[in-house]
Order: sequence, then structure tokens, then C-alpha cells
Amino acid sequence: MQNKVIELGGLIENANGVMVLTGAGMDTESNIPDFRSKDGLWGKLDPGTVANINNFYENYSLIHEFFSNGLKLLKDCKPHNGHYVLAELEKEGLISAVATQNISGLHALAGSNNIYELHGNIQTFHCNYCGQPASLTEFLQKNNCKHCSRMALRPDAVLFGEALPEDVWSKTLDKVQNSDILIVIGTSLEVYPVSMIPGLARGKTVYINDEIGRWVYEFDLTIEGKAKQVLEDLYTVLGI
Ligand code: NAD
Repeated sequence: MQNKVIELGGLIENANGVMVLTGAGMDTESNIPDFRSKDGLWGKLDPGTVANINNFYENYSLIHEFFSNGLKLLKDCKPHNGHYVLAELEKEGLISAVATQNISGLHALAGSNNIYELHGNIQTFHCNYCGQPASLTEFLQKNNCKHCSRMALRPDAVLFGEALPEDVWSKTLDKVQNSDILIVIGTSLEVYPVSMIPGLARGKTVYINDEIGRWVYEFDLTIEGKAKQVLEDLYTVLGI
């Protein structure tokens, strides 16, 4: 057990409001690859190019295949203990909410209730043109939208080149700025505008990641390790 986890436990016990921000590194131990770590997807494809809003107009098949593959992968993925620890800390009143860049829905599956999905999610669908909802089957079958007849069904996930959902963004900032602690877990903090969030926090900032690198200078506390192990240790430290 790292002393730094014990230090984090103490901070949480004495805090008035703790907010969590997660990224793809939170889900890798549930077998969902991230983008930028050594075994990530980045080397295999460039998500910024594939999952880009321009493809709706230029190459719909590519974007359809990208999300269909993501949905297939997700079918066999379950939350790990780290997701369950965050849900349990929320139930105990020790954290107020989880903001996530992940589109997997694993925080909700683990039982977290206050979740801000900054990049939307991959499990619900709408038409990119008329905005009407659509079903998973309609999306997978590459149907045209039954309301406007366009071939433009897509998940409710934010694509590169699109703005974040405004209400989710402003609720997240409000929580971040009114919390004593912001705990950032498993993100390279490369994707804008989420990358700005730690800099907007007014309380203490904590970074849990398997590679800390230059972030050691930007956070009040950094814990190098796997999200699952660090959160399991935190659960033990908090004795709940
Ligand atoms: P990223 O891939 O850029 O960074 C992930 C970070 O997590 C890396 O620094 C990596 O070293 C670290 N990491 C990997 N496994 C870890 C573990 N077990 N414990 C601790 N740290 C670990 O991901 P990002 O910053 O979230 O940005 C990627 C973008 O891609 C986001 O917009 C996100 O929406 C999307 N994405 C989502 C998923 C998902 O929903 N699970 C998966 C891939 C990408």
C-alpha cells in the first residue's frame, strides 16, 4: 500500500465535497483499450480522424464501423472493482459525482448515480440530421432515419470536432469549482476541453494514473499505479 493512498484517504475524510474525473485508463482493466498508452488504440488508428464529425459527410461507413466495433467490444465488458469503489464512495457520501470522458457506461453499470458523461455515451442513438432518437438495432442495421430518411444514425457520443453537451459541461465545472478535492483518474489529459478541468479546480487536485510524467508538477498529489489497485487500496484505507 502506498503512503500516498493513505494521504488521499485522510484528505477525503476531511473534505467538504470530492469530485472525480475519469478517462479511458479507468476502463482498460475492464478490457476496453484506451487511446494513448503503450497498448492503446492510438498506434492502430487515429481516433481524431476516424471518430470525426466530418465523416458524417465524407465517409459514413467508416464511422459506422468504428462505433459498431466499439459496441461489439463492449458487450463482453464489465465494471471492475475500481468502478464499484467509486459507486460505494458516492453512496457513503464521500464523493459527490463522477465526471467521465468515457462513453462505455461502466460507471452507471457499477451503480454510480451522479455521473456527468462529458463525451456522451455509445449505448443510445439519434439521427445526426433531425435529432430524433433511434434504436441500437436500427443503428447496427445501418437503417435510414425513420423520421427524415437520411442515412445518419449515430450514438449519442461526442465526436472529435463537436462541442460537449453544454449542460453536462457547466454542471461539471460547477461541481469542480465547489469541491475541496478533484481526483483525476486514468486520463492523459490530452483531449480539449476536458484537459482544462484540473486547472479550473479551486481545491486540492489529485492525479491517479499508471504514468505520471510531467503531471507531477501540476497536481497537489500524484499516485502512480493502476486505477483498480489504487481504488481498492483507498477503499481499505477508508475502512468502509
Ligand atoms: P487516453 O487514452 O488519452 O489516456 C489514458 C490514460 O490512462 C493514459 O495516460 C494511460 O497511461 C492511463 N492508463 C491506462 N490504463 C490505466 C490503468 N489501468 N490505471 C491507471 N491509468 C491507466 O484517454 P483519455 O484521456 O480518456 O482520452 C481519450 C478520449 O477517447 C476520450 O475522449 C474518451 O472519450 C475516448 N475513449 C473512451 C474510452 C472508453 O469509453 N472506455 C476508450 C478509449 C477512448
